[in-house]
Amino acid sequence: MAAFRTLDDADLAGKRVLVRVDLNVPMEGGRVTDDTRIQAILPTIRAITQKGGRAILISHFGRPKGRDESQSLAPLVPAVAERLGAKVGFVDDCIGTEAEKAVAELDEGGVLVLENTRFHAGEEKNTPEFVGALARLGDVYVNDSFSTAHRSHASTEGLAHKLPAFAGRSMQGEIDALTKALEAPERPVLAVVGGAKVSTKLELLGNLTAKVDVLVIGGGMANTFLAAQGINVGKSLCEHDLAPTALKILDTAKSVNCEIVLPVDVVVAKKFEANAPHRVVKVTEVAEDEMILDAGPATVALVAEKLNKVKTVVWNGPFGAFELTPFDAATVAVARAVADATQAGKLLSVAGGGDTVAALNHAGAAERFSYVSTAGGAFLEWLEGKALPGVEALRR
Ligand code: AMP
Repeated sequence: MAAFRTLDDADLAGKRVLVRVDLNVPMEGGRVTDDTRIQAILPTIRAITQKGGRAILISHFGRPKGRDESQSLAPLVPAVAERLGAKVGFVDDCIGTEAEKAVAELDEGGVLVLENTRFHAGEEKNTPEFVGALARLGDVYVNDSFSTAHRSHASTEGLAHKLPAFAGRSMQGEIDALTKALEAPERPVLAVVGGAKVSTKLELLGNLTAKVDVLVIGGGMANTFLAAQGINVGKSLCEHDLAPTALKILDTAKSVNCEIVLPVDVVVAKKFEANAPHRVVKVTEVAEDEMILDAGPATVALVAEKLNKVKTVVWNGPFGAFELTPFDAATVAVARAVADATQAGKLLSVAGGGDTVAALNHAGAAERFSYVSTAGGAFLEWLEGKALPGVEALRR
């Protein structure tokens, strides 16, 4: 982390610390249904209060257009207080006199949540006026929200240029893991890219072919690569118009010595539904009325063999339609193989992206990976090789 300023570098005693967190958590009927993101920010809040700082938490919630009580952060405050095991105050605006008064009255070691930053248009527009109004509430700025670091908003980027800025613990963990996985990895590196479509992951595939030694392509997107090579994929999900693009990716990979691994056998069915009658066939034996819904056991064995030879694994996207039993088999088997190898100390594994986390949880493997990113879009943009404004602003 030498390249970034962290809490270890910050003198916070008596300071007002404006902390960008991600409290955009799933809620149902006023209750938090998944508290992963709340848990993730606790070490940062504790580090700040232990150093004698006052923690003033700012976050967006949902996509309100202006003030909208249905998108208020107020219902989340008890959940934060309960997990933290401390009193947490709340102000129903993130700027202005009320907020300034509450911050001034906050005790050393106190914690305060301010209302949804997106109630103000200046947040997403990153206007100097809004950045200035926020900055009046803090002496230093801590960004602990990697999941929003791909956005150039006032609270995610603007503030870092206005106040002394530091990475929080969860931000530090994300940067650390992703750096070890892609920027300065132990080689060889193997990437697994699965999921539905090639079109949504073109840049990601382009960047990974340049950076990894082995690229395993699975899921619906593998069908496009198979079809591009003249293999009949029947009724499978397939972007036939992207055949030239797929061939170009294969070509580029070859020229940079990136080994591409595609399915050699697949599980096919005639219906896209759970427990649909299915059979395992070689990729060259898919019938016109069948669709590929998962990779087959020979493919799983092939990937396992490749895993034996690498030191680092990066994963995004499932191998098949994992939400439908039994088409989750390849995803589950490979996820467990990566988790086992990680636990045996044979490799470092990093995974991320919405569906990927769900798939790894489903396989019971997420906890045994070295690192699972809680970020969706930001994780994908990192895999695409893009600079994330919120991260860049924290560089020394
Ligand atoms: P993505 O959001 O691109 O990571 O795609 C995840 C989705 O891809 C999941 O909902 C899977 O069900 C779907 N998927 C994976 N493999 C297939 C396949 N062979 N056919 C159809 N959908 C698939």
